[in-house]
This record gives sequence, structure tokens and C-alpha cells, in this order.
Amino acid sequence: MSNDRNITLEMTGVNRTYEEAHGKQVVVLREADLKLYAGEMVALVAPSGAGKSTLLHLAGLLEKPDAGVIKIGGRNTINLAEDKRTALRRDDIGFIYQFHHLLAEFTALENLMIPQMLRSVSRENSEKRAMELLDFMGISQRADHHPSELSGGEQQRVAIARAVANQPKLLLADEPTGNLDPETSDRVFKMLQELVRSTGLSALIATHNHALAREMDRCITLENGKLVTLKL
Ligand code: ADP
Repeated sequence: MSNDRNITLEMTGVNRTYEEAHGKQVVVLREADLKLYAGEMVALVAPSGAGKSTLLHLAGLLEKPDAGVIKIGGRNTINLAEDKRTALRRDDIGFIYQFHHLLAEFTALENLMIPQMLRSVSRENSEKRAMELLDFMGISQRADHHPSELSGGEQQRVAIARAVANQPKLLLADEPTGNLDPETSDRVFKMLQELVRSTGLSALIATHNHALAREMDRCITLENGKLVTLKL
């Protein structure tokens, strides 16, 4: 059994409502609860507009809930000052998006070194870890290429490696293989899975792909503003 020490993300009683231009209220989360344990890979499967991005933004400290508690690694983030939230986001949370968002003017290697150097890791150590990660993702031979010189699958593998460059506790991904053809998507997903397994971080991955979702430890969905188990 997992104990509380191993919870990387804990959301309790989280509410999030948006007000639309004409004053109509859109309730996205209502008393939502979620616990993610270390080493766990959880699929978030829900239709468009259900609130997947909202949930990922809240978990990633990019937005604040209207009510409720969000803890990262046991630490309550709600009343943290903005600089502390930024530091927590940089140190403990990795993001992967549908589009790679790599820096175009830098090489694959540099894209992995920059986030580490922003945390004052030495150039030498940043480069060493960057190369190890590229190697793990099977693209070390592409280290000196710029994103535009990489295939879609390669770009996404670099983006995944970058997301874990700072050894986060929590990985948040929004359709990480959504832009790839089915075969590449499967291959990239397998690498992501191996990475999660080998590092013990926990991952929350929004996806429309039921086959990939079934490969994860459990699936959840949003129902009436709550997070509930989904059987696929
Ligand atoms: P998903 O990622 O599942 O497609 P979102 O989290 O983007 O869903 O959106 C959930 C709901 O909240 C949608 O109805 C969307 O229109 C609404 N919404 C999201 N962001 C905002 C915003 N900034 N202002 C107003 N409404 C928003």
C-alpha cells in the first residue's frame, strides 16, 4: 500500500469556475479530489471541453483554484507566494504538450541543458544529463540538430526528455503523442512509459487515445466536475 509520503499530487475539494463574457458561469471542477502516487501513470480521458487542460493547469500551478487544496510532494501550494510557486513548477513539475515547444534557435542538446542551467546546474553536468536523456530516448545521434531538422517523433522525444531534465516529481502531459502518426505515437509512448517506470515520478497524461490509456496504471475522467475512475 502506498502511504502519504508517496503522494506526489494531491487535490482536495478543488473548485474551478469560469465566467464567460455574457456572465454565464461554466463550472469545470466541483469539489474535485485526486491523488497521484509516485511511480504511477494515470490517463485522463474526457471529451473536448470537459476540463482536462484546466485540471493540468491547476496541477501544474499555472492557475489557482477558486477553492480547495493542491499539494505537490506533500506541500500545500495554495498560499505560496508567486516566486515560490514558480520555483516549485521549475523544480518539481515537468510539462509535455501536444506540440513540442522546443526553442527553435537551440539544438536538441541545448534545449535539454537550458532548464538545468536555469537551476544553476553547471554547464558540464547539464550537458552530461542531457546526453544521458537523449541516449535513453534513442536520439543521442541527433543531439546537435535544431528542432526543424528533426522528425515529429524525434521532436517529441526531445520534448519528453526536456520535461524530465530537472528530475521532477510530477509529469503533466496534454496529448503528448496527439500530433504523431499511430506507429510513431506507440513508439514514443513506450519510451515515455519506460522513462516514468525508471524514474519513479508520477505522470498525469491527458489523451483521447483509448489504446494508450489502457496501457497506463489507471484511467480517470471528469464527470459533473469530479474526477472519477474510468473503465476502458
Ligand atoms: P479540455 O482541455 O478538456 O478541452 P478545458 O479545460 O480547456 O477543456 O475547458 C473546460 C471548459 O472551461 C470549457 O467549457 C471552456 O470553454 C471553459 N474555459 C476554459 N478556459 C476558460 C477561460 N479562460 N475563460 C472562460 N472559459 C474557459
